[in-house]
Parts: sequence; C-alpha cells; structure tokens
Amino acid sequence: MFASFARNPDLHCHSTVSDGTLTPAALAQRAHANGVDLWALTDHDELGGLTEARQSAEALGLRFVPGVEISVSFAAQTVHIVALNFDDSHPVLQGGLQQIRAGRDQRARDMAADLEKHLGLSDVYAGALRYAGNPALMSRTHFARLLVELGVCRQTHEVFSRYLTPGKPGYVEHEWARLDEALSWVRAAGGITVIAHPGRYRFTETEEWALLERFKSLGGQGIEVVTGSHTAAQARKYAKLALEFGFYASRGSDFHSPGESICDLGRLAPLPADLAPVWDLLH
Ligand code: AMP
Ligand code: MN
Ligand code: MN
Ligand code: MN
Repeated sequence: MFASFARNPDLHCHSTVSDGTLTPAALAQRAHANGVDLWALTDHDELGGLTEARQSAEALGLRFVPGVEISVSFAAQTVHIVALNFDDSHPVLQGGLQQIRAGRDQRARDMAADLEKHLGLSDVYAGALRYAGNPALMSRTHFARLLVELGVCRQTHEVFSRYLTPGKPGYVEHEWARLDEALSWVRAAGGITVIAHPGRYRFTETEEWALLERFKSLGGQGIEVVTGSHTAAQARKYAKLALEFGFYASRGSDFHSPGESICDLGRLAPLPADLAPVWDLLH
C-alpha cells in the first residue's frame, strides 16, 4: 500500500494530450513544486501522455498513478469516470478509448458549423484545431479558447455559460461510451473507477441516485469528493453520499491551465477524516 501515507494527492488533471495547456512533463514539475506527493494524469479518453508523465514523475521522485477520464453517456447527460491504476498497455482499454475518440472529429465539425451559423464566423474548425495539442482529441475547451481569442467572450468560463452547453449555440448532442462498457474496459485493465465531479451534473435527485446505484452495482468503487469543481457544500454532500454508498473518496484539482483553472495542482482542501481515501486501494 505504497500510497497510504500520501498527504497531498492530486488524482485528476489534464495535459496537452487532451484539453490542458501544459505538457505532461510540465504538469509533473508543477505538481511536484506545489507539494503533490501522489499524482495522476487523467486526460480525456486518451492514454498518450502517460509515458511522459510517468518518466517525468519518476525523475522528480513523485509517486505516479496512471489515469484517464472517460466520457460516458448516462440518462441523457455526459458523465465523466476517472479510471486509475490500470495497465495502460491493455488492448481492451486502449480499444474502448479509441472508439470514443473516433466520434470526436465529426462532433467538432458539427460544433464548428453551428458556431459559424450563430456567430457569423468562418474557419472555426481550423481555428479550434490550432488549440488542440492532439488532433484526435478536439474538445469543447479548444473551441472556448478560440472564442476568447476572437473576442466573442472574455474568459473560457464565460464561453461555457453562453455557448457549447445544452440548449446554447455550439452544443452538439453526442453518444459517448455506456457506463457498463467503460467500467468493463477499466476492470479488464486492472484499474479502479471513480465518478468525477458529481456536483457538476444536472441530474434530478432520482437520476443522481440511479447513477450512484448503477455505478456501484457495476463494481465502481470511488467518488470525487474534494475537487476543483465542487463548492464546500458540494464536498460535504458527496462526503455524506460516499459514506452512504460505501465509496472510497477521491481528491483532484481537475487542473487544465494556469490561466483558466481556479484550482491549481495540489491546492485543495483535505478529504474529510471519516472517509476512506481512494489511494488506500493503490498498491
Ligand atoms: P468535451 O469533452 O469536448 O465535451 O469537453 C469537456 C471539457 O470542457 C471539460 O472537461 C472541461 O474542461 C470543459 N468545460 C465544460 N464545462 C465547463 C465550464 N462550465 N467551465 C469551464 N470548462 C468547462
Ligand atoms: Mn477538460
Ligand atoms: Mn470532467
Ligand atoms: Mn477533468
């Protein structure tokens, strides 16, 4: 149980391999400089940054856990599942993620067309592509950065309140993986799964309960309690639900970029003391 003594774990962040602005190596350095002592890189639907992240962390003496944040569709919404501590060369996990990524390019083209129509812009796809460190992983974040560059909005946060979200221009419905599929891929690769930032979904209480029940029945073990996406009240709510459901609790900044992320790597409140930390499962 090498990680039991982690005092400042950060098990959720993004690099240029998905929608972050720092390379895996730069993230490792920043995590280490900020006092993180157990670190996971969790790019969206993509394992391509893990080798660089692992090597950089090892060189710094920073304990590293391979991770990925998987896009899932559940009850007509997108839910993110953070997977940790798997064999990142496993073909089942790699194939599943490849399947999710394959839908992203057409989605990006459709988003671009919708933004062009609503804003009277042109070349939106090519513009967003310039922000994508990995062309296989075009994300809404890359469009948000373009809209800031073009002066449509002042900040990426503002973009997500006016565009790119359900009912707003630039939003395109998309079918991601099914929850059961995603969990089976991670199980095949020997990893564990955690529901990412549960406070961010727009579920009714009944739908949220159904998600937690289903996740648990499929073998899901963890839930993020302390994350850059939660208010203190949300952390308390999900701490209580973690105890009720018997989930291990996770902690991660969801850091994307120095200029955009409110919460920096490692700069998070501690987990409430009565919760079982998910890092107790990381051998
Ligand atoms: P995608 O996977 O293409 O749907 O993009 C999802 C990403 O968009 C998330 O991982 C966040 O990085 C970003 N995002 C979504 N909603 C918001 C928001 N309200 N504020 C800032 N970033 C957001
Ligand atoms: Mn993201
Ligand atoms: Mn997420
Ligand atoms: Mn994330």
